[in-house]
Amino acid sequence: MPSFRSAARAGIVAVLVLGLVPAAAHASSSSAKTAALQVALKALHYYSGTIDGIRGPETIRGTKRFQHAHHLTADGIAGSQTRKALGVRGRPSLGSRSVRVGERGWDVAAIQFLLKKHGFSPGTIDGGFGPNTDAAARRFQGVHGLTVDGIVGPATLGALQHGSSGGGGGSSGGGGPISFYRPVNAPITSPFGMRWGRMHTGVDFGAPYGTRIGAAGRGTVVFAGWNSGGYGYLVIIQHRLDYQTWYAHMSRIATSVGRSVVGGTTIGYVGATGHATGPHLHFEVRHHGVPIDPVPYLLPTTAPRRLAPTLADEPDGCAPLSGPESDPRTARLVSCK
Ligand SMILES: [Zn+2]
Repeated sequence: MPSFRSAARAGIVAVLVLGLVPAAAHASSSSAKTAALQVALKALHYYSGTIDGIRGPETIRGTKRFQHAHHLTADGIAGSQTRKALGVRGRPSLGSRSVRVGERGWDVAAIQFLLKKHGFSPGTIDGGFGPNTDAAARRFQGVHGLTVDGIVGPATLGALQHGSSGGGGGSSGGGGPISFYRPVNAPITSPFGMRWGRMHTGVDFGAPYGTRIGAAGRGTVVFAGWNSGGYGYLVIIQHRLDYQTWYAHMSRIATSVGRSVVGGTTIGYVGATGHATGPHLHFEVRHHGVPIDPVPYLLPTTAPRRLAPTLADEPDGCAPLSGPESDPRTARLVSCK
């Protein structure tokens, strides 16, 4: 029995590596150029999706519609003719100049996307270099040991395109340092950002009550319990490079503090606890404690279900929930199956 368990563990360790996907995989799934294209198309009402840098069906459709309306070959690719037709929103190319507060254009949109991808939110990605973008650029420069002047020239752009983020941990391309699996297989029904005059610090997945929630990547559970501030039943996972993912409003928690997880490990089930009008998963990504838009970090799919066998590694009985706002009676109810 013990030998079986350790063999099973060794198998699990082999799979753990897949829990977080290297930056290269992420880089191929989203790009600053596509983000800049989305910003331009959005401003001209040819695109209404999120600025996620992913060349998905909606982006291709919008590009083709724009091309058709401008008597261009509708190939869905933002080539030089299409960029020209986009006017001031289609230029200048990224890296062709240094940009600072007051500037706008294609390159500014791309820079905003890269800042956000590195965890330094520039506010709305709209191609306009405003005070929020300036603040994000300065924070990025400070963290990377660059001259803190808010001017995105060759050095800062180089770090944005090739450097690692947040210190430590290599990044092998233009992508962010980390990618996350989708915690549930459901559409995003509410985006990150300002909503009804208040900041929405995560995204909402519109999944039915009881839907299984999988960990977004490899990490350790640092909170699993009741949050009285509106999150309801909440699980927080600590990942490398000081990233955290938060999973709120759960109907039931299926993990406990200290537990190691990989992408896809079951951590709970969708509910409507806390401040929620109906069942959904409120999902946050926090970097250095600051909530950032999860979308640029999200892979298109949930983790393979086969990673779930880590549940077999759970000890018998209930582990205590912890956290400053946990109610012991309620906590025990949700941690016992
Ligand atoms: Zn929410």
